[in-house]
Amino acid sequence: MRYMHRDIEHKRILVTGGAGFLGTHLCERLLQDGHDVICIDNFFTGTRRNIEHLLEDRRFEMLRHDVTFPLYVEVDAIYNLASPASPLYYQLDPVQTTKTNVVGAVNMLGLAKRLKIPILQASTSEVYGDPAVHPQPETYWGNVNPIGPRSCYDEGKRCAETLFFDYHRQHNVSIKVARIFNTYGPYMRMDDGRVVSNFICQALLDRDITIYGNGSQTRSFCFVSDLIDGLCRLMASDRAVTGPMNIGNPVEFSILELAEKIIALTNSRSRILHLDLPVDDPRQRKPDISAAQSELGWQPKVDLSDGLERTAQYFERLLIERRVALAN
Ligand code: NAD
Ligand code: UDP
Ligand code: UDP
Repeated sequence: MRYMHRDIEHKRILVTGGAGFLGTHLCERLLQDGHDVICIDNFFTGTRRNIEHLLEDRRFEMLRHDVTFPLYVEVDAIYNLASPASPLYYQLDPVQTTKTNVVGAVNMLGLAKRLKIPILQASTSEVYGDPAVHPQPETYWGNVNPIGPRSCYDEGKRCAETLFFDYHRQHNVSIKVARIFNTYGPYMRMDDGRVVSNFICQALLDRDITIYGNGSQTRSFCFVSDLIDGLCRLMASDRAVTGPMNIGNPVEFSILELAEKIIALTNSRSRILHLDLPVDDPRQRKPDISAAQSELGWQPKVDLSDGLERTAQYFERLLIERRVALAN
């Protein structure tokens, strides 16, 4: 029998990839909002440590499960976040990355179709590839290499978007597609490999800051609390609002500027080391967020300096804990 929630506000919500960076914040937020949460994760990049503090809450349930396999649970809504997001990790097993994004989307859409429930997809600014239009509006179709080392992720996410829109048109599934731009904050792994966690950890340890290429490429960085708020607003929006919708912070920085900001913030003695630019690394990226502003009344609140400081405090604590553990 179909699970019945107690009232309209109180829901049982499935978060795939719930032990990862964004997933942990989302589970926290949904519990705070009074919902029950089922978190599923195969712990490829996510960790038990991230969600340990949630296990005491009886409204929180954790299942070790890989989204490429079918899943039969009874829930009221799905946030589909399962997929490695850092180039370092999604390129470790590219076939699994495509499967996670494509087969995982089919399974979660099949679940949403059976239960007639809304499903939100964590898509990405990577669907725009190395963009020739700047900033990127949702109407831009992108510039993506289909056969390069980033394609498993970019094309996997593009195919997932196709599946979402076809399940919507063909099977009337209620969908929400968020195109997430570079997001950072606590609960990222120290060895995640993405730029903010790399630079902060390098700076705190006074190690060389590894800039790939000359550092003139740009990104626009969103603090995680803003991003999660955007996802929750999108899920709560009218059924007609399907997206795709850009969710990100439109303030753009070069990677060199980011490095300099982090060195100054942490008072670090680190020096800058230039390494090779990875193949197909996008030259520029900045979201046009007018759709999120007008349809969700959403825009980011936390600026980069503030967000970096909060993230640096998190990694400082992690490093201290690690030192203590090593000393014992
Ligand atoms: P993350 O790597 O920290 O989290 C991803 C989670 O998915 C991990 O817990 C991982 O173990 C889990 N996972 C991976 N494959 C799985 C599988 N087959 N079955 C079950 N679980 C699986 O990354 P994140 O930054 O938290 O990203 C979360 C989602 O948001 C991803 O879908 C990512 O593509 C998307 N996204 C993130 C960003 C960002 O800047 N953080 C930007 C664009 C899109
Ligand atoms: N599926 C699932 N949980 C469900 C319903 C479906 O994991 O509660 C999976 C199932 O493995 C199926 C996929 O979702 O292969 C797509 O489901 P759909 O009903 O669209 O396709 P079909 O079952 O007809 O192939
Ligand atoms: N980058 C860098 N040094 C690092 C990690 C990343 O210069 O140690 C660069 C990377 O080449 C890219 C940008 O920072 O131009 C953002 O990289 P990230 O992997 O964080 O995200 P994405 O490329 O997926 O936007």
